Amino acid sequence: MKKLTVIAAALALGSTLLSPAAVAQQKFVTIGTGGVTGVYYAAGGAICRLMNKDRAKHGIRCSVESTAASVYNVNTIKAGELDFGVAQSDVQYNAVKGLAQFKDGGPHADLRAVFSVYPEPLTVVARKEAGVTKFEDFKGKRFNVGNPGSGTRATIDMLMGALGMKTSDFTLTSELKPDEHGAALCDNKIDGFAYVVGSPAANIQDPTTTCGAKLVPISGPAVDKLVKEYPYFAHATIPGGMYPGNPDATKTFGVTASFVTSAKVPDAVVYAMVSAVFDNFEDFKKLHPAFANIDPKDMISSGLSAPLHPGAVKYYKEKGWM
Ligand code: GLU
Repeated sequence: MKKLTVIAAALALGSTLLSPAAVAQQKFVTIGTGGVTGVYYAAGGAICRLMNKDRAKHGIRCSVESTAASVYNVNTIKAGELDFGVAQSDVQYNAVKGLAQFKDGGPHADLRAVFSVYPEPLTVVARKEAGVTKFEDFKGKRFNVGNPGSGTRATIDMLMGALGMKTSDFTLTSELKPDEHGAALCDNKIDGFAYVVGSPAANIQDPTTTCGAKLVPISGPAVDKLVKEYPYFAHATIPGGMYPGNPDATKTFGVTASFVTSAKVPDAVVYAMVSAVFDNFEDFKKLHPAFANIDPKDMISSGLSAPLHPGAVKYYKEKGWM
């Protein structure tokens, strides 16, 4: 009798939360993002929230992990320890082809694209007192090139290569995480930092507000050459007034943020993730100001070099987008 009550109670509890079928196949998926003050973390969180809302339907519980960002996410998906991750379009491209940071590991044949999201301009910030008006002015100064495993670091390596600069040109080359670079700048521990990030980023708002940090334009022949040579780079402009104390538009170049997964992740999981975003698209767009201008047509076609995952293709075909 007692046993029966327990089972009945368990069943009753289960049925109020999830259908029996969903209970049977409750799955956990994790999205690898970036620093907690970046936009990847917010984007991953927004997607998980929308997915978890429909947990009774698909039986999947989504959670986000703060990580070292793009390169780390791609490598960790390859190792089977993350189901989804956010990656810059340049990093996605290099992973698919086995170039740059992925040379040693070879092409990541199982990497699959889900969708791209928003543009990420290379945002270079200098101390107000540093007297920096272009990237080369950081020679002889202290510069944060980005943490290992970040996409920022990958992009900075490309820029410095194009400019013929080496880390030995700096008096100090730091590898702080984005969650730390704003405070380091305002505490006069570094003269500048780089961050490839969607605008506006809280992380950039902070030092521009707290210590009057200035955005540095990244343009000229070396940048023109990068944009011409590499399909994933594009000229970009950070609009004037995007950040406090920076009323003028800042020219730079950038990439696109994208969500990636592995061919080994089941179609139903990717389908549920994509449905969460596009079935609730107007809500999704409101979750971060960096999503303001996103459009499904671009999201499934630009900034993607890995093949689309079949679970995503199924949804896009049902919508008549493909
Ligand atoms: N694009 C950055 C990177 O891959 C991360 C940006 C973010 O977390 O919003 O390093």
